[in-house]
Amino acid sequence: MELEGRTALVTGASRGIGRAIAVYLAELGAQVAVNYSSSEQRAIEVVEAIKEKGGRAIAVKADVSNLQEVEAMFEKVLNEFGDLHILVNNAGITRDALLIRMKQEDWDAVLDTNLKGVYNCSKAAAKIMIKKRRGKIINISSVVGVAGNAGQSNYAAAKAGVIGFSKAIARELAPRNIQVNVVAPGFIETDMTAALPESIRQEMLKQIPLGRYGDPMDVAYVVGFLASDKSQYITGQVIHVDGGMIM
Ligand code: NAD
Repeated sequence: MELEGRTALVTGASRGIGRAIAVYLAELGAQVAVNYSSSEQRAIEVVEAIKEKGGRAIAVKADVSNLQEVEAMFEKVLNEFGDLHILVNNAGITRDALLIRMKQEDWDAVLDTNLKGVYNCSKAAAKIMIKKRRGKIINISSVVGVAGNAGQSNYAAAKAGVIGFSKAIARELAPRNIQVNVVAPGFIETDMTAALPESIRQEMLKQIPLGRYGDPMDVAYVVGFLASDKSQYITGQVIHVDGGMIM
């Protein structure tokens, strides 16, 4: 098992892509901390699903945009597992509106969770990883952070910010043998995309050369690779998991 003896923390892991990543990293042998901000029951279900397959996991509560809660979460992970090797910054939200209708609170909420949350967790993880001179930080951005999308200026800014942030810390942390990479999914079937009107879903489908929506596992497999020793010589990269959408 490739991740035997490793500990991973996955943010926003109670459902969707985060859940798939948490379960897959556990299948690869990692002990997994399943972060959630409000849906405790669903996080516990993820932990149970991992334990049923013989893995080890805990649920850890924290709003990633809140530094105090994040610091308490990392302390809990260290108390429980003794170390942290892998951080996956997956938690994210959307609050879509055209620019002239976008409320300040929608801008702030998306930037706080999707960008400040990545900064908060990466900083806390780096403090642990630097001492051990090894670690993997994997940040989930989006094709929207690369190509933009009308009605998502807040989300695009945050997700583009994640890419710039990741490249900067990839350079900072490389001398400490910590690899930092970004996964940029396209259109993945989760609760986040399920709410979109069928007309928009069909329009999206036309833009995907591989002719299907993505599955959370399509993202999880890439994260598993980036979390493993097989990707030791890869850092500061953005890997698109989008069926060729923005090639
Ligand atoms: P989702 O809404 O199903 O899951 C997001 C998770 O993040 C939820 O469990 C939610 O509770 C959690 N979360 C939200 N705010 C949080 C906070 N402040 N603190 C901690 N947890 C918080 O969405 P998803 O589709 O699984 O998306 C996962 C990630 O992938 C997000 O970063 C999203 O932006 C990104 N992404 C998704 C798609 C897609 O098509 N689904 C495409 C590109 C990028």
